[in-house]
Amino acid sequence: MWIDTHCHLDAPEFEADRDAVRATARAAGVGLCVLPAVQRGDWSKVQHLAAQHGDAYALGIHPLYVPQAREQDLQALDQALAEAAGDPRLVAVGEIGLDFFVPALCTPEMRARQWAFYVAQLRLAKQHGLPVILHVRRSADGLLKGLRQVGSAGGIAHAFNGSAQQAQAFMGLGFALGFGGALSFDGASRLRGLAQSLPMSALVLETDAPDIPPQWLYQTAEARAQGVPQGRNTPAELPRIAQVLADLRDMPLADLQAQALANALRVLPGLAALVPA
Ligand code: ZN
Repeated sequence: MWIDTHCHLDAPEFEADRDAVRATARAAGVGLCVLPAVQRGDWSKVQHLAAQHGDAYALGIHPLYVPQAREQDLQALDQALAEAAGDPRLVAVGEIGLDFFVPALCTPEMRARQWAFYVAQLRLAKQHGLPVILHVRRSADGLLKGLRQVGSAGGIAHAFNGSAQQAQAFMGLGFALGFGGALSFDGASRLRGLAQSLPMSALVLETDAPDIPPQWLYQTAEARAQGVPQGRNTPAELPRIAQVLADLRDMPLADLQAQALANALRVLPGLAALVPA
């Protein structure tokens, strides 16, 4: 069985055919998806979707949604986590983190606001005894600083694209690194090198659907201008992404599957209750 450790099944891109998308992924062997929420308004949606499809979810406020979030959303998160304490499908606080790529989020005010929401959510994760799912974009050092200050139960640094040293630091704090479609890009040689050289115990697989379409679905801006539609990334792409990683590491796909599953269960222990024995 494959686990897609990061899939935004609640995204509007799946509004028209969400059930079919999930069924196709299941038929491809993706037995479990982790659905991280990005804003307060979506928390009940990921909860319902996870229940409907036998998946897992995380609750949190994504850094890209911090500008429009309100202070009281943090209290609401505390309350939502308390209410879901008995729900085996709640496996993490996420998606939380810092984004220093988007210019609008890099003003001094916005950096401070992102930091405040990140640290507050780390504290909530700690209080509720949950791991975290981290959004890392040009922000690995800041994220690590927060983890060291607040403490954490580990989790996943999703769509990881930092240095080997930063990877080691996350691993030392009990994190696995999420790898997905970005591995398939020929230009991603540094990322592929990292995926090759890190210990296998550090890696988990994700699609980040509908974001980050793998190379085989991606259309360049030029092609799109000529009317070729951008391919839509879905959780059904996970086995093919896994094959890219297996080829990179020169290991049998079945071994990769077993190891990736064990890693996901280690960093998101709540998943164990959802995986058929
Ligand atoms: Zn995400």
